[in-house]
Amino acid sequence: MNYFSTRNETKKYTAAQAIAMGLAPDGGLFVPETIPSVDESALRALCGMDYRARAVELMGLYLEEFSREELEGFVRRAYAENYDHPEIAPLHLLDDATGFLELWHGPTCAFKDMALQMLPYLLTASLKKTGEKRQVCILVATSGDTGKAALEGFKDVPGTRIFVFYPDGGVSAIQRLQMVTQAGENVGVCAVRGNFDDAQTGVKVIFGDSQFAARLTEKGWFLSSANSINWGRLLPQIVYYFSAYCDYVNSGKLNFGDRLNFCVPTGNFGNILAGWFAKQMGLPVGRFICASNANNVLTEFIQTGVYDKNRPFHNTISPSMDILVSSNLERLLYMLTDDKTTAAYMARLAKDGRYTVDAEVLSALQSTFSAGFCDDDETRGTIGRVFAETGYLMDTHTAVACKVLSDYRAQSGDQTPAVVVSTASPFKFAADVLAGLGADGGAEPLAALSEKSGMPIPAPLQNLEERPVRFDGVAEKSEMERLVDQFLS
Ligand SMILES: *Cc1c(COP(=O)(O)O)cnc(C)c1O
Repeated sequence: MNYFSTRNETKKYTAAQAIAMGLAPDGGLFVPETIPSVDESALRALCGMDYRARAVELMGLYLEEFSREELEGFVRRAYAENYDHPEIAPLHLLDDATGFLELWHGPTCAFKDMALQMLPYLLTASLKKTGEKRQVCILVATSGDTGKAALEGFKDVPGTRIFVFYPDGGVSAIQRLQMVTQAGENVGVCAVRGNFDDAQTGVKVIFGDSQFAARLTEKGWFLSSANSINWGRLLPQIVYYFSAYCDYVNSGKLNFGDRLNFCVPTGNFGNILAGWFAKQMGLPVGRFICASNANNVLTEFIQTGVYDKNRPFHNTISPSMDILVSSNLERLLYMLTDDKTTAAYMARLAKDGRYTVDAEVLSALQSTFSAGFCDDDETRGTIGRVFAETGYLMDTHTAVACKVLSDYRAQSGDQTPAVVVSTASPFKFAADVLAGLGADGGAEPLAALSEKSGMPIPAPLQNLEERPVRFDGVAEKSEMERLVDQFLS
């Protein structure tokens, strides 16, 4: 299967090229030429498999140049003892009509592991297939969770280095500690003055600097991305939508073939877009409910067709969703329009910070997506209420989705069973989760949350304070390129 850029359909790339390059040369995002379909009998077969086998089947549909044996090897290593749950992505049913898809049982306790434990295998194999002789440096801008997950995925992977930028003061204390104490010989981390969009723009500028790229080539390096603009990030995420559906059916609470809704806490639109691909492949999904925090640019977009990033940026207690430019939306726009229209929207976004889609695109969007948002008080309130009523503990991002789903159900009357996509362990945001429970964690929020909930602190988050801080730098946006240059010298 071929891939091309959302901004130019005429030039074709293989899957390996798309994954190795990350971003298309024209600044667009790679998309598959066609979307493979999973028919009823194939879906039934998936329901009889475990997570790893489901991943091999589904990813293989998009990766013709990769052999089955290769994919089996990747999956065996990506989803193994590094997960603290045998089902990898278990579905927790709260009641008959509501499930939580727990995507945080991996080594960094957030859903990014689902893709970033896999990406290093996909990427290094892709480099071999494309005959790339240079070594790859992964550049990451993170709102908190991607950075750590990418560092963990790429640490000490031969032929690679990884450098992560995060917004100074824009990530939780635990997220920061996870990154600045990162082990590995090939890793670098630095804070940037500004918010996530500043860090992401800074990284995009580096990617766009062709002189810098030429200098790096002389030194034997090239840059690639582990952000969700890389197709290799999106692809592994399609798997867990199928997996959740199958597990729901296997629980006996959903008839095979009946529709299921998904409510997804959304930032860069990568997670929810993977779900949309699953639906296009034939998964019986009713609607996707796009959940945002106070940075509600996507809520407005889905409700009105106007995307406008010219608005105040809010630092919230769900920091991984503090995003005003949702990169992956470009892929959906392309799927609903064409390359020229998409390029025009993106040009307007770059120039004016806003664009408006036409009525046809809006109605296509609204035929599948609903949207809502909630603020920090509502997020905390939801954590406390659900824990008091059911004993189920959620992190702040998942709580945003849980609240938005209940608002959606109340407003629409849609009682289709729904899965809340649970994107982080509650321990990763322990202080704010405790606040939701009406408690104060004091100096040791992890221990306090463990005591209050009766759940053990996940192993990767234990003793973080005792690990040596390796990376305490803070840079201006203008210094980012120089730092990468130094890192590769
Ligand atoms: C990254 C992240 C999100 C947002 O996912 P997108 O793919 O960027 O929409 C939500 N919750 C958590 C915990 C995250 O780490």
